[in-house]
Amino acid sequence: MSSETELSVLEQLQKLRCEYAKKLPDVLTKLEHLSDSLGASVAQPEALQSLYQELHKLAGSAGSFGFDELSVKAREQELIVKKWLAGDPVAAAAAIDFGAAIRELRDYTTNAQQAPASDAPIGHTQVAHLAGSERNLIYLLEDDLDLAAELTMALTNFGYWVEHYVALADAEKAVNNIRPDFLIVDVMFSGEARTGPESIAALQKQAEVPLAVVFISARDDFDAYLAAVRAGAVGYFVKPLDIPQLVNCLESQLKLAQRSPYRVLIVDDDAMLASHYQAVLESAGMRVEVITDPRNVLDSMRRFHPELVLLDLNLPDCRGYEVAQLIRLNPDWLRVAIAYLSSESDEQAQANAVGYGGDDFLTKPISDLRLVSAVCVRAARSRQLSEAIDQDSLTGLLTHARIKDQVNIELQRAKRLGKPASVAMIDLDHFKKVNDTYGHAIGDRVIRALAQLLRQRLRQTDGIGRYGGEEFVVILPDCDTAAAKLILDDLRESFAAVTFSAKEATFNVTLSCGIASSGDGAVESLLEQADKALYRAKAAGRNRVCTVA
Ligand code: GH3
Ligand code: MG
Ligand code: MG
Repeated sequence: MSSETELSVLEQLQKLRCEYAKKLPDVLTKLEHLSDSLGASVAQPEALQSLYQELHKLAGSAGSFGFDELSVKAREQELIVKKWLAGDPVAAAAAIDFGAAIRELRDYTTNAQQAPASDAPIGHTQVAHLAGSERNLIYLLEDDLDLAAELTMALTNFGYWVEHYVALADAEKAVNNIRPDFLIVDVMFSGEARTGPESIAALQKQAEVPLAVVFISARDDFDAYLAAVRAGAVGYFVKPLDIPQLVNCLESQLKLAQRSPYRVLIVDDDAMLASHYQAVLESAGMRVEVITDPRNVLDSMRRFHPELVLLDLNLPDCRGYEVAQLIRLNPDWLRVAIAYLSSESDEQAQANAVGYGGDDFLTKPISDLRLVSAVCVRAARSRQLSEAIDQDSLTGLLTHARIKDQVNIELQRAKRLGKPASVAMIDLDHFKKVNDTYGHAIGDRVIRALAQLLRQRLRQTDGIGRYGGEEFVVILPDCDTAAAKLILDDLRESFAAVTFSAKEATFNVTLSCGIASSGDGAVESLLEQADKALYRAKAAGRNRVCTVA
């Protein structure tokens, strides 16, 4: 994307933010009136319903325009009202403070987040937030209103922000105004001259960066797929839609788009040459650190965490392969790729160097293009390996050992800062029956769907891990028991609403959850306490969230 376009998008977003900020006081006044009209009683379904809708709108829109804290706070109140509507007597007891909480929302209207940094993907900064996490924006073009409603509900459930269009022209206008993260388009449109792929192909021609398009269609033939490919499809789903699978496709695309830049460390005593390599790699979007004295390598490894080290062979006081060996002595750095970049042309010397802990040999002089492609391939491999070590292969969540580490790190941090933190342990209900009835592969799909839901709905700063087969652990920093309970209860409801399909049948799965928070005892025993709370949730009939008694 050129800096010119970027600027105009940023300016546009800034303008929208200002306009939104101007309207906020009225929105809040309306909320205050509504909350006042409840009086001491919360048993007025109509007023409650309006209040719920207003808070829901505010939570979504505030996040879109950078008022992240306001969005989180509005969301908290929204969840409380939702509970009142459901007739929850415990939540209703909180009515005493409700008016004050609504008035407090004003405190959060002045601190909109700054314009996004220029290297942030534009598409992800303009979208709404939920419980502090980013919502990704989807435009759905579908003329079948029932299907559109169903899809909108399901995708919203997974944490996406969906805007539905029935006319191509309106969707085109919206795309030109604010670029969505995804377009989901029906291939066949009634009342339009062109098919979905034809229109999208035309739209793609105007777009500087291709739009991520997913087609949905009743057709399953070569020509339909080909047209979709030519329109730049990243996904194609045949009706009836398997929604968890569609979400899976969206999620893997987002992962690609949100990939952080590769980190490369260059060790070369020729400062000029090293700076040239640095500039070349940085222009290809990588983060690069240069050291000309090999004695600084340990410090740089610890601080910068490179994924790839480019090593010169001839260094002052030592040889490049000695530095490689030195790096390999630390087991934490086994996942780091090491490539020599040297003018050594003797094949035997090259082979020897690779034998001493390096992975590859690149010879100087090297063209810019070749340098970038060689570094990219090796850094990608290193990252893949690293992720394979830390992430569970079925879900992409942290592994048992890594989430335990994460829980400890966050709880210690919370203790240090005097802030709350909560641990949640989640287990699927009667999961054996799902496997027995529909097969292990479908069971795996259910596990993946829950992982996707957790990822979409929780904050970037929350740690999420697969603790065991169908057991998950979540660590929520800066979140006390009450807030954690609201969030997890909401997740529980959303998950129960996800419909899975297997052969001809459709079914739903529920989950149980136990929560322990930093106030509940020693850091070391919180996981155990959460497990006990989970046990109580199971014993009390499942499909519920229990806190420490
Ligand atoms: P409860 O409500 O008491 O938790 O009942 P449950 O059936 O879920 O009980 P339990 O925890 O004993 O059973 C878990 C089942 O999950 C057993 C195992 O076959 C299944 N499971 C564990 N890991 C996986 C996996 O990776 N994939 C699939 N498909 N199933 C798994
Ligand atoms: Mg279970
Ligand atoms: Mg279990």
